[in-house]
Amino acid sequence: MPDFVFPVAGMSWADFRERPELRGSDAGEPGRGGWHYQRSETHLHKGIDLKAPIGTPLLAVENGTAEFILAREGRSGGHRVRLTGASGAMYHYLHLGTDPAHPGDAFPAEFIDTGDRPVEVTAGTVIGYLGHTGGAVASGMSIPARAAHLHFQYHPQGGRDANPANLFDLIDTGLRIDGYVP
Ligand SMILES: [Zn+2]
Repeated sequence: MPDFVFPVAGMSWADFRERPELRGSDAGEPGRGGWHYQRSETHLHKGIDLKAPIGTPLLAVENGTAEFILAREGRSGGHRVRLTGASGAMYHYLHLGTDPAHPGDAFPAEFIDTGDRPVEVTAGTVIGYLGHTGGAVASGMSIPARAAHLHFQYHPQGGRDANPANLFDLIDTGLRIDGYVP
């Protein structure tokens, strides 16, 4: 297993890079799923949206500790995973599973009851399943299967968010990216 892996199982950034239709949450706005797309005056989109079938396994990008966070009323994002990598980067995986009231298809069974306790994982560990909880269908979309996506957010050194595309480009090349700061 390489040091860093693409977060969507069975796919690579090459599958998404030239296909904007695989990004975004299907609200009909070009670019909507892109990094730093200004969705409204107050809503800057801080991640990249990656569309794939509901239930697609999502992988830990690097070795680290994962927290499995259940959907909460009034909070967007739905079921989510926060991964703190050995590199010091932080990653957010949002909209997991299909039912905000039940995490059964959001996380692997062994991770559902970990509460806020971080769990050690290695790069490539399945830490969640793609879905549409928490606002993935909030923009008038009524077809969850089409709107389902992973919202992936990347914070090098745990600080400000950076463009995940830069990280994905490096992962695709297979290079070690220890200490990489965009
Ligand atoms: Zn998003």
